[in-house]
Amino acid sequence: MKLFLWLCLAVLVYLALRKSFRANMPPSNRNQDSANTSQEDWREDQFVQNPSAKQVESMLSCAHCQVYFPASESVQRGNLHYCCAEHADIASKTS
Ligand SMILES: [Zn+2]
Repeated sequence: MKLFLWLCLAVLVYLALRKSFRANMPPSNRNQDSANTSQEDWREDQFVQNPSAKQVESMLSCAHCQVYFPASESVQRGNLHYCCAEHADIASKTS
């Protein structure tokens, strides 16, 4: 069991060293082990694209305070959209 722990530690140290070594490598040397890095680059691209894809959500303007907010958070009363239930209630009372 103790041997297994040492083995895990060795693998972790190896991975950490390999990662830092690869980061310091110039791009020309990086291409040599392209079979490994291309897959990692693809995963990094996916990771980078995901947050921006989330920001593409359409924005609506509150009919009461004109604040812009994500469409998924809108409170709808009739044809109008509001940023929160309070503003929807205020608008429905005053009209
Ligand atoms: Zn509002």
